Amino acid sequence: MKNGKKLKLFFSLSWSEAPSYILLLIANTAIAGLQTVATVVLPKYLIDELTGGRDLSRIALTSALILGSNLFFGWLARFMKRCLSVQNPYMNQRLERRLSEKIMNVPYERLEEPYYLDLKERAAFACINQQAMQGLITGLADLLQKGITLFGLAVILVTLGPLLPAILLLLVGVMLLLQKKHAKNMQAIHEYILPINRRYGYYVNLCFNDELQKDIRLYDMAKMLGERVDYYNQEITQVFGDYRRKEGVYMGLYSIVNDLQAAVSYGYVGLRALSSRLGPRISLGSFTMYVNAAVQFCAGITDFGRAVIRINQLLDYLDPFMELMSLPEEEEKGSVPLAGPIESIEFNQVDFTYPGSEKKVLDQVSFHVQKGEKISVVGLNGAGKTTLIKLLCRLYEPQSGEIRVNGRDIREYEYRSYTAQLAAVFQDYRLFAFTIGENISGRAAGEDEARLKELARQVGLNEKLASLPDGLHTLLGKSYDENGTELSGGQQQKIAIARALYKEASLIILDEPTSALDPLAEAEIYENFNELAGGKTAFYISHRMSSSVFCDKILVLSGGHVSDFASHAELMQKKDSLYRQLFETQARNYAKG
Ligand code: ADP
Repeated sequence: MKNGKKLKLFFSLSWSEAPSYILLLIANTAIAGLQTVATVVLPKYLIDELTGGRDLSRIALTSALILGSNLFFGWLARFMKRCLSVQNPYMNQRLERRLSEKIMNVPYERLEEPYYLDLKERAAFACINQQAMQGLITGLADLLQKGITLFGLAVILVTLGPLLPAILLLLVGVMLLLQKKHAKNMQAIHEYILPINRRYGYYVNLCFNDELQKDIRLYDMAKMLGERVDYYNQEITQVFGDYRRKEGVYMGLYSIVNDLQAAVSYGYVGLRALSSRLGPRISLGSFTMYVNAAVQFCAGITDFGRAVIRINQLLDYLDPFMELMSLPEEEEKGSVPLAGPIESIEFNQVDFTYPGSEKKVLDQVSFHVQKGEKISVVGLNGAGKTTLIKLLCRLYEPQSGEIRVNGRDIREYEYRSYTAQLAAVFQDYRLFAFTIGENISGRAAGEDEARLKELARQVGLNEKLASLPDGLHTLLGKSYDENGTELSGGQQQKIAIARALYKEASLIILDEPTSALDPLAEAEIYENFNELAGGKTAFYISHRMSSSVFCDKILVLSGGHVSDFASHAELMQKKDSLYRQLFETQARNYAKG
């Protein structure tokens, strides 16, 4: 992406987040620029009056002006600094939030793309670790401020004739060349260090990760992890050591050019004050003003150059962020709202292969389900059961064939209205560090307490809730609250099921959510669930065949094909059916157990 385009995207993002912040930055910039010019120009009049007319009232007036402007600008600068020091992190966090929203909204299938995963990591690294966003915000404000100041100083200098500005610009050119080389060097080091840093971050995070502490302790991995962290740490330190040495050389060269600039400024302006050979003689006050302006101009222009290089660098760092922010989102797919409940589902010769894989996971899958039917999806491990559900949830799209809901291809439906009709409990469902009530409702606590309690009772959580002093308001996990509670796998699954029931969806899906439950609890949940699901359409995936008995129909998948689709009774009559084999084998095993 071109820098101009990146800046445009950045401004539109920042403006949409906090327009007042952008205005504050611009005001701050203008004020700082004016301040510099005032501190250069006003002393000239005071000195001229002191060395010339010595009119007391004029001396008093200019002194008061200098004092007043210093006080005023000093106060304003502090005030602005305070406002910005509050606003800068706020703005940074807002943009981080935009990034997280984006990550939560890009099409799910992107999670299969190594390119996307890498892009996401690089974007997050730039924003969070390098704080590139905050750097860009303050860097741009700084650049604007320096630009305004430089313009004012240049106008002052030009009034003395073109020679001094020309020589100064030449020297500035040399300085900018040096800076550019230095920045290139920095960029190369940055590119070199980034993957090392990522590896370092990965191992440090492993050490910090609570979920890994069991394995780290049991398999005594702390030493190995510590050594790996040390290894990358040393490598990073060495790279930075080299970098600092090179930086020292550049800094030395800068200061030589800087001194040369000061010598030229003092020499030329001094000559103009002492003789009229290079132009009309100037007063002592003008001498002070021009010398001041020249020194500040040189310092300002090198700072300006530095700021431009820094911004280019930050824009490079932010490349992945900008690229990520421009990706299309899930919602942008499909436009027809799904107004009512799901009345029918039809898979029509659906083929599916995972991105980056060769193997066809679903092969010409066709079946038809009517509203209210309870379907058990059965098959050996890897038969494609979960994949079928993921396609129905629009996490992936089939390569050929179509899935129709209420007679229309699901891709045509507006995404949010479609997912509003689905509630699924996946094997790898996640609960969050919110209260139990919030985990079930997905909303801040307080509403629908009676309904939440009723659901908790229905999934068999009421005893557990009664044992907790804060009941539904108990936080899950102890990470953020000492009074939080840790639940067993089975209890967590019950919450996940209650969450699916809470959502007023017309299709409900359980993808082996009962694996952490004992067979009795599982039977209880399934019996209950059929009752709870009521008129809703439901899909169950369970490796315990006994749960299929409660269902209207069984969809048997084998190697990605539908090998049967009929009721339990019908399939049990069919001698060679895979379903019957599976069912009988499991029944025998349970009997043995
Ligand atoms: P089931 O739920 O019946 O056990 P899945 O639908 O989970 O089966 O998986 C079907 C096949 O697809 C398996 O061979 C599995 O290895 C493969 N598979 C599942 N997820 C992915 C993925 N994200 N990328 C590539 N292959 C996958």
